[in-house]
Amino acid sequence: MGGRVGIGFDVHPFTDDPARPLVLGGVELPGEQGLAGHSDADVVAHAVADALLGAAGLGDLGEHFPADDPQWAGADSLGLLTHVVALVERAGWRPANVDCSVVLEAPRLGPHRRRMEARLSEAAGVAVSVKVKRAEGLGALGRGEGVACWAVALLEQP
Ligand SMILES: [Zn+2]
Repeated sequence: MGGRVGIGFDVHPFTDDPARPLVLGGVELPGEQGLAGHSDADVVAHAVADALLGAAGLGDLGEHFPADDPQWAGADSLGLLTHVVALVERAGWRPANVDCSVVLEAPRLGPHRRRMEARLSEAAGVAVSVKVKRAEGLGALGRGEGVACWAVALLEQP
């Protein structure tokens, strides 16, 4: 009877470490400044996973993948996302769709948006749509200090 929605939010600052690649929605953007974080810092995959966990009432990503757990150092966040979907399904739910908004000043994600959607949808086994927004120069995001992502997930009963 009816579905459940969940919201996810994540933000990561850019890092000066040249060894960190920029990974957004499972797509690596070569030559771009990377994000700081314990895993691959894929802020989009993290927000999507958090929305799915929230909708299922399973808490948040930090509970399932603690930042101090060496198992997840540099982890591929699409793998985390697939794992989260398995948890959601074990709890008796099936994802219906996920939508997200990525907020950043640069780089331009337009050319990568479709590939991000394809990678995320494949990992989550459900349609994931991605929209991209600039912060219009406002605040830390507007100064290009990091990337944020909001996601909404709908779950239905199988
Ligand atoms: Zn994150």
